[in-house]
Amino acid sequence: MSDETCTVCRRALWEHEIGHQACTLCVNRTDANLVALAGPNGLYAQLPAAMMPGRSGSPGRVSGSRTAPIPPRLGPLNLSAPGGIITTLQMWAEDWATYGRGQTDWHGTLQQQLDQAVTTLRFNIHWAAQNHPAWKDFAEEVRQAKKACEASITGERECPILLACGTCGHGIPYTLTTPQRTCGTCHRVYGWVELRQLRPIAERAAA
Ligand SMILES: [Zn+2]
Ligand SMILES: [Zn+2]
Repeated sequence: MSDETCTVCRRALWEHEIGHQACTLCVNRTDANLVALAGPNGLYAQLPAAMMPGRSGSPGRVSGSRTAPIPPRLGPLNLSAPGGIITTLQMWAEDWATYGRGQTDWHGTLQQQLDQAVTTLRFNIHWAAQNHPAWKDFAEEVRQAKKACEASITGERECPILLACGTCGHGIPYTLTTPQRTCGTCHRVYGWVELRQLRPIAERAAA
C-alpha cells in the first residue's frame, strides 16, 4: 500500500497529508457520517419508530454474537437492535481502546450508547486516520451504517452485490440492510457485523 494515496478514495495525498492513511476530505466525510447517525435528530433516532427495540420485550445487553429471532421487517429492526449499527460502532470503540483511544464501558439506552460510541470515535478520528491499521474498514463500515439507515428510513430498494464468503470464497448476495446471511455453498452463518466485514467479490479479486 502506497503512503502517498488515500486508502479510502485512492486520491493522491497533498504534501501535508503524506504518511496519513486518508485524505482530509475522507476523514471529514467519515466524521460527518458519524455526526449524521447520532443525536436526538440523527439517523439512528429516525429509524422507523415501530421497529425500535423495546417495543417487544427488553432489548437486553448489547452483544455482537446475539442472534435475534426473525422479525416481520428485518431491515429497520436489525439496524437499531443490539448486534446492528450500535454493535458495529461499539466494536470499533472497543478496538481503539486497546490502543488507549477508545471506550469499553457503555451506559443507558441504546440511543445513549450509540451517542457515546460516536463521541469517542469522533474524538479519536484523526488519530485513527493516521495510525489505526484498519482505518479503511472503519471508514467503509461507518459509510455503510449511514447508508443503511437512510435506506431504511426512505424505504429505498437496493440492488444486491456479491460478497466473497470468508471460508469458501463463493458469492453471498447482500444489500446494506441485509441483517444476516448463510453462505449457500459452505453454509457458514454470518451475523450483521460479520457480514459487513466481508469484501465484495470484485474488490477481493483486484486486491
Ligand atoms: Zn480520500
Ligand atoms: Zn462459503
